[in-house]
Amino acid sequence: MYDLHTHSCTSDGTQPVAELVAEVAALGLTGFALTDHDTTAGWSLAQAEADKWGLDFVPGMEISCSAQGVSVHLLCYLHDPHHEGLCAEMERSRGARRSRAQRMVERLSEDYPLTWDTVQEHVHQGATVGRPHIADALVAIGAVTTRTEAFQRVLTPSSPYYIPHYAVDPVEAVQLVRQAGGVPVMAHPRAPSRGRLASDETIYAMIDAGLAGVEVYHRDNPPEGRQWLLDLASRHDLLVTGSSDYHGAGKPNLLGENTTDPQTVAALRAQAGSHQKLGEQV
Ligand code: AMP
Ligand code: FE
Ligand code: FE
Ligand code: ZN
Repeated sequence: MYDLHTHSCTSDGTQPVAELVAEVAALGLTGFALTDHDTTAGWSLAQAEADKWGLDFVPGMEISCSAQGVSVHLLCYLHDPHHEGLCAEMERSRGARRSRAQRMVERLSEDYPLTWDTVQEHVHQGATVGRPHIADALVAIGAVTTRTEAFQRVLTPSSPYYIPHYAVDPVEAVQLVRQAGGVPVMAHPRAPSRGRLASDETIYAMIDAGLAGVEVYHRDNPPEGRQWLLDLASRHDLLVTGSSDYHGAGKPNLLGENTTDPQTVAALRAQAGSHQKLGEQV
């Protein structure tokens, strides 16, 4: 089995890639995808580590999207990491995330002894910055005891410190991923704990644009949401995936707590563009 949604410290996971891959091997999984937010910087190391352990590596990414202010996450697999349009969007997103984090820290510093330098200490070099890094800094200064507590008490979208950031429209993101030869799968599509849900209209528009699958088996999708997604998948011939959204020690999600079968991974691969089929190195 495969875990198709994991994060390393190349974005907001707590582990270096090598440690994450060793853990995948220790669990006895067949393979995994690395899906850091808005970056493919961890791919080559992940491929090398996977080779060491005899694991099947599926290169991936989790794209931050915004549908008129509603946050949507799009997983994409096997895309060309050099595709100009997609790279430009990801660069824009990472930049927006950084300035947004700086502005959130400015607001927080009025009430907490928090500086941008302290937050930086928790960001791995070149990593995509997010609220988890601010959360880690809040733990370090003793304002909260865990990342999760920081999210619940200080960093929620309803808090006065919260600031949204620019992110690509999800329909445009699906188109870009397809243009880049990748396979787009909507992440945790029915997760009320993450704020407002993407509307049915947004999801249908993503399907029309070429969405390949939906991540049904994710701990944040409640049972009724999963049933809705399974019906949707059978009506629109979408692939169904399951994964952990593992972030190392930063979140309670356990590696391999949900998985995807090899047949589905083969179906994902069959939809990837020719840059992958020709065996181009990541
Ligand atoms: P941001 O993308 O900056 O708005 O931050 C949200 C991200 O934080 C999501 O990708 C979550 O998966 C991630 N995250 C990491 N650890 C936690 C946690 N303990 N609680 C909630 N979200 C978390
Ligand atoms: Fe995350
Ligand atoms: Fe996500
Ligand atoms: Zn994720």
